[in-house]
Amino acid sequence: MITGKNYKFWFCTGSQDLYGDECLAHVAEHAKIIVAKLNESGVLPYEVVWKPTLITNELIRKTFNEANVDEECAGVITWMHTFSPAKSWILGLQEYRKPLLHLHTQFNEEIPYDTIDMDFMNENQSAHGDREYGHIVSRMKIERKVVVGHWSDPAVQEKIASWMRTAVGVIESSHIRVMRVADNMRNVAVTEGDKVEAQLKFGWEVDTWPVNEIAESVAAVSEADTNALVEEYYSKYEILLEGRDPAEFRRHVAVQAQIELGFERFLEEKNYQAIVTHFGDLGALKQLPGLAIQRLMEKGYGFGAEGDWKVAAMVRLMKIMTAGKKDANGTSMLEDYTYNFVKGKEGILQAHMLEICPSIADGPISIKCQPLSMGDREDPARLVFTSKEGKGIATSLIDLGNRFRLIINDVDCRKVEKPMPKLPVATNFWTPQPDLYTGAEAWILAGGAHHTAFTYDLTAEQMGDWADAMGIEAVYIDKDTNIRDFKRDLKLGELFYR
Ligand code: MN
Repeated sequence: MITGKNYKFWFCTGSQDLYGDECLAHVAEHAKIIVAKLNESGVLPYEVVWKPTLITNELIRKTFNEANVDEECAGVITWMHTFSPAKSWILGLQEYRKPLLHLHTQFNEEIPYDTIDMDFMNENQSAHGDREYGHIVSRMKIERKVVVGHWSDPAVQEKIASWMRTAVGVIESSHIRVMRVADNMRNVAVTEGDKVEAQLKFGWEVDTWPVNEIAESVAAVSEADTNALVEEYYSKYEILLEGRDPAEFRRHVAVQAQIELGFERFLEEKNYQAIVTHFGDLGALKQLPGLAIQRLMEKGYGFGAEGDWKVAAMVRLMKIMTAGKKDANGTSMLEDYTYNFVKGKEGILQAHMLEICPSIADGPISIKCQPLSMGDREDPARLVFTSKEGKGIATSLIDLGNRFRLIINDVDCRKVEKPMPKLPVATNFWTPQPDLYTGAEAWILAGGAHHTAFTYDLTAEQMGDWADAMGIEAVYIDKDTNIRDFKRDLKLGELFYR
């Protein structure tokens, strides 16, 4: 289901006619070469499209408005090859509504010491042309990303690539529709929030559906379709009977296959990309959706448990931001469960009742059927695995009553020391940066939730830039965090975002 459009980014070069047609011809030629080389680099996840050089306020305004209405355009990259008087940009920038990157580069990498003259200086003056342009964007308080360096530098290309995924997150956020088939778990605070404000800020539509309508869709799935999917499960995953009768086990698995198909059809028909469930509100469903939800998350659906629509939307957002990423390691909802406080081995065991996305799995994936300690249904089938090692980010979007805050924690995922044979759920295990003690203290001071939207495939910078674009506060917990500064940042946020 992970879709996302075939997005493109426009490359708009600023200049003026003061230096004559020959200079303008060079400007256009240089920009075309840069665009071609960026596209050939293989680093960028989306195509860059060259646009005619912008030298008048009429053309600038027209180009930005065309970018606004072009459904495939996810953002504009701007670069001032020569000096481009920034008043010409005001109206266009005022009317522009999509992500903006200011690529502060120049065509030549090295100063041509032997040949440089004033003609060269006038033609290649990004160093001050981009400052004039940057001034007006700052004065207008427009969110943009600034990337500095030579366009052929792989590090610069990586930064452009990274920003492109943020930009797609900004554009796609307003296409996220969350289906709630249950309200929030009774008395739970942090999973609550203002859904109208979320639509105003992020563009998310969060709708409630009676659980039995989706249960009817499940019941309508034919036995043949269900059996075919069960076959797929049995060929793909290890079956851990653990003493259960094979036929009974298979019947339990079939319930999840039927749920997967019924849910998927219902979500597709109603155009939702994320779903929330609640173990205490299952209507006619025979089991809490476990394996079924795990498979849907792997296909790109967002998910939040116990009515947690914010996490559902965030997981979907991260799925679409990372779509098509080479060597992606996965994205999932997770929940902080249990600590290891042994010195030198500190970390947090991450899990949930069932619903962890197999995209983060490392090694074999098994199916188990086990009773749930909560709820009143059949023993649900679920996928069990451990997760990859490596760096990731855990995020929590919270509603503080008058505004949203996104908390972003760099975490280091690793294997637990020993297998946990009696634990019938998928797990991850991580140490928050800068260390468990500081990381958890900062998280709690910031009001972060127990549910997180986690990914190996995005950076704190990308999610922070997304939050900036949405006009909400982002706080970072990383290798540089210390509690005194962090508390001051929270206080400053109270002032800035009130
Ligand atoms: Mn939970």
